[in-house]
Amino acid sequence: MAEDKIDIKSLDYTQLQELLESMGEKKFRSKQLYEWIHKRLVLEFDEMTNLSKDMRKKLAGTCTIEGARIIKKQVSSDGTAKFLMRLSDGNTVESVLMKYKHGNSVCISTQVGCRMGCRFCASTVGGLIRSLKTSEMLDQIYEIQRTTGERVSNVILMGIGEPLDNYDNVVKFIRMLSDENGLNISQRNITLSTCGLVDRLKKLVDEKLTITIAISLHAPNDELRREMMPIANRYSINEIIDACRYYVDKTGRRITFEYSMVEGKNDSRECAMQLIELVRGLNCHINLIPLNPVEGRMGQRSKGADIQAFKLLLEKNHINVTIRREMGRDIDAACGQLRNKEKGGNYDEGIRKD
Ligand code: SAH
Repeated sequence: MAEDKIDIKSLDYTQLQELLESMGEKKFRSKQLYEWIHKRLVLEFDEMTNLSKDMRKKLAGTCTIEGARIIKKQVSSDGTAKFLMRLSDGNTVESVLMKYKHGNSVCISTQVGCRMGCRFCASTVGGLIRSLKTSEMLDQIYEIQRTTGERVSNVILMGIGEPLDNYDNVVKFIRMLSDENGLNISQRNITLSTCGLVDRLKKLVDEKLTITIAISLHAPNDELRREMMPIANRYSINEIIDACRYYVDKTGRRITFEYSMVEGKNDSRECAMQLIELVRGLNCHINLIPLNPVEGRMGQRSKGADIQAFKLLLEKNHINVTIRREMGRDIDAACGQLRNKEKGGNYDEGIRKD
């Protein structure tokens, strides 16, 4: 049975060495094997031609190579491609490929569904089904490289799911993605976005990774944030800012705040002033995201003039701010939209209360 087999793509380099040793194989084979899986991105043991037939047979008998398979692709007029990927148990997630002058970025999902319940977000509809394995996160990138032939240089964890709600697998994924025996993507080119699970955030800082962290703030005070994001009932903005200071102090790196702009909700002059006070003195960057309205979910996008005024006020107060360049709007690029459509569009709230 496939379930009894070892998910070999989720094993890091050390674990792979241990596996081979336990099979009575030479240790140096692990470099070859790791490269077949994580550099050449093959999906069959039989393709590993520099390993003996006997070893390939043994591996196939005890292990599986998990794959995420593209079952749908939508290409936007700006070149952004969105993929619906099927996992081995039939669940689906989304990944997006964005082409920039400086290289290709892939946005991956970390869970099937999400239990954070943000009111404007499509991914949370239907709640959390399960977290992704390390192999399933890696293979979203591998599958895009395999099928498009495009080399991926940047990875963002901003698709479906809350990365810090799948902590161990996500940290392992980051380490394996930046392993020199694999795709060797620099941690500096990896961005993790979180709604702000404070305890996990502090733990993440202590992992001493050199990734960029982005916090989905979206509101400058707790009352408003609670209306938009149920997680705000658990952690206050002050706790989040404290964790951000911890990050900035420990790493010397700048933190990013995401602020999705919802018309008449969080786009007023007063909100801008509160936001300025909140981040004063913190080494940060604020990314304003015009809301991508999702049918049945909260809010409309702020007017262009209001977004510009908000930005100007922040700039006047010497805060680094940009308006996110929008890509793939014509292809349901807001996370979770494609998956929902495929499922027949079920817009129940789907928020777990725990
Ligand atoms: N769970 C993580 C990452 C996934 S969402 C997080 O909360 O950060 C990536 C970003 O897109 C988050 O900032 C999220 O709040 C935002 N987002 C979700 N739906 C959106 C929408 N419809 N319009 C604009 N931004 C949205």
